Amino acid sequence: MRQFVCPDCGAVNRTPEDRDAHAAKCGRCGARLFEGKPVEVTSAQLAAHRRSTSGAALLLDVWAPWCGPCRAMAPQFAAAAAKLEPEVRLLKLNSDEEPQAASELGVSGIPALILFRDGRVIARQAGAMSASQIVAWTQQALAQAAA
Ligand code: ZN
Repeated sequence: MRQFVCPDCGAVNRTPEDRDAHAAKCGRCGARLFEGKPVEVTSAQLAAHRRSTSGAALLLDVWAPWCGPCRAMAPQFAAAAAKLEPEVRLLKLNSDEEPQAASELGVSGIPALILFRDGRVIARQAGAMSASQIVAWTQQALAQAAA
C-alpha cells in the first residue's frame, strides 16, 4: 500500500500500489489526492506529509514572495508536478511565513529544493531550475538513493 496525506483536509489515505493514485480521492473529504500541481503547506502540514507519506517521495520548494528567481521558477515547479506525481508529491513552503521551518531544514538561500523519502532528506539543491531540470534532478536523486 501507498500512503498519502490529503492536500485539502489532511486525512491520511491508503491506496493500493496497483491502483492509479492520480484517480484516487480522499476517503474523508472526497478531494482528489493529486491535482497535477504543487501543494502549499505550513510547517505543521509539511511535518504531516513527512510523517505519513509512504511509497512516494516529497519534493519541497522553499520560496518567498519577494524572491524573483523563486517567482520565475514557480510555473516550472508546477509543470514538474504534472510529470512527477504521484511517485513524488510536490510541496511549497513560504519561508517568510515559516522562517523557523526553513531554518531547521538548513535552507540558507532560496529557491531551495529538498527531496525527502521516508521522512528523511535525501537530496537538496539551491537555485532556480527549469521544469525539465527539476524532473531530471529528482529522478536522478531517487535512483541514487535506491542504489
Ligand atoms: Zn481530504
